Amino acid sequence: MRRQDFRNETDDDHLPVMVPRSDKVLIQTPPERVRRLRRHLIVTLRAIRRMKETGRSTSPASPEPEGFAARVAGTACGLCKGWCCKNGEDDAFLDEPTLLRVRRANPALNARAVLRLFVDLVPADAYQGSCIFHGKQGCTLNRSLRSDVCNSYFCGGLQNYLAGGDVATPAVVIAGEGDKMRRSPILTP
Ligand code: SF4
Ligand code: SF4
Repeated sequence: MRRQDFRNETDDDHLPVMVPRSDKVLIQTPPERVRRLRRHLIVTLRAIRRMKETGRSTSPASPEPEGFAARVAGTACGLCKGWCCKNGEDDAFLDEPTLLRVRRANPALNARAVLRLFVDLVPADAYQGSCIFHGKQGCTLNRSLRSDVCNSYFCGGLQNYLAGGDVATPAVVIAGEGDKMRRSPILTP
């Protein structure tokens, strides 16, 4: 198994967790990106009216890692600086089931208010070539507003670590390669 192979490559008594690292540049968020997000949200909010009428259910939010695994995952995503968020583009995977979940969790908000909620969370500066909600401090959406894709995705290195279930062993996150590589301190349970 991959993680055991990694451990055999080192003499250290810790698990290496290998993740990528983003090197995207932070720039002022272009207004056309916000316009594309607005258009996407308007179309999707209209579509979910039909889902509500047919009583279609939403998928429940995926569970988060807990305890030490959550600390390792948080450290990995922080050092990586959101490499996988490049796929979020200007719609952040905010699809119909996700917006239906948000609407049902916030019955006091009408569609216009939900639209405003998301647009107001676009950071003034976002990473070029990454998701519109990818700002300097990371994702500006909290978990309850993120898509099911965002809430359930882990890159290969993190997936291997989490699937291994070995949360009793110290771990070190290694993000990126070459000059851009960063290591975390040894994280202990
Ligand atoms: S899931 Fe992986 S690629 Fe995505 S931010 Fe976290 S460490 Fe980076
Ligand atoms: S919504 Fe957040 S977690 Fe999802 S792709 Fe965008 S920045 Fe990343």
